[in-house]
Amino acid sequence: MFESLKNLLKHFTGSQETESAVPETKSQPQSASTPASTTSAAEESLNQYISLGQFNLGLGSIGPDNRDDIDKNVLVQMYQSIAAGTFNVPANGAVPEICVDGRTKADGSRFSAPCAAGGTLSIVYGGDLGGGSAAGDVNELQLTTQAINTLKSKGHSTGVHGDDHGPCGCGACAKAPTIYQHISERINDIAALVGKLGIDVTESEKGSIVQQAKNRLGQAGFFAEDRAAVLQAAQECGALYEELVGKHNELGIALNTKPGTTIDRAAIRAKYGPQYDMFVVDAWAFGNAAKDINASGSDDDAQRIAKAITIQNVATASILGHGSLRIIPIA
Ligand SMILES: [Zn+2]
Repeated sequence: MFESLKNLLKHFTGSQETESAVPETKSQPQSASTPASTTSAAEESLNQYISLGQFNLGLGSIGPDNRDDIDKNVLVQMYQSIAAGTFNVPANGAVPEICVDGRTKADGSRFSAPCAAGGTLSIVYGGDLGGGSAAGDVNELQLTTQAINTLKSKGHSTGVHGDDHGPCGCGACAKAPTIYQHISERINDIAALVGKLGIDVTESEKGSIVQQAKNRLGQAGFFAEDRAAVLQAAQECGALYEELVGKHNELGIALNTKPGTTIDRAAIRAKYGPQYDMFVVDAWAFGNAAKDINASGSDDDAQRIAKAITIQNVATASILGHGSLRIIPIA
């Protein structure tokens, strides 16, 4: 089921085909150890999908187990339809541009563009963590400006978002220092989840990404104190801005590997109800972004950046999301 994600990222992941062929051993939930009477059919269907909690991830609160306004049977149906590609629609652009955030603008729509945690900021942070630049004289705002200018020069559109009630309504941006910290502390858990998706993060890549996270955490003034300033810097550079509304109702993570597409959030709500939202990760676009943001031109660097973008997305989900958030692959 992860075949196309593997194929897509093969170029960027050193084609560890023999190793990455393993994860399909879909260990059925140990029903032997779980009393049958407590495991409903819906629960069993849900357990087909991997959850953040299985990897000791999911420190946040967003997720189905914290909700009393949803129906588990509907949730199963929604996961199955999403996995089947029912809600895939064409997306403009080849690199991540809008945020994974499941919410919409006041009119119920989103820009039709590839999604990653923080929109274009995913490329900023992934490029930083994976690029491993030793430059200690550049801060987050400057990196944001540089990355957006690079992406623009390659013909890409860029974007960030806020919301209608907070100073920095994008969790990936608001919590970027915490996300770097999480990566530095929990790289093995994050890499285990990524490995389950067929992407092998080597020990050396893990070491390099953790080192860069630590460098930035230790670099005085790297992260802007006013988190909204990052969104502002991006917009001043030409990033498009979405104002999202309402509260977080995400019930899972749609991991989309169908090139040229994204997931239609409005269509999901129309079918299942306004409280049924999903985080949307258009992983097919990560390799494109890595290639275009990589300054060195080296293939190894581009691979590491693609993986760092993936890791930044998982770490963001882990900080904002609950362990009950499941990953629904669309291949
Ligand atoms: Zn966001």
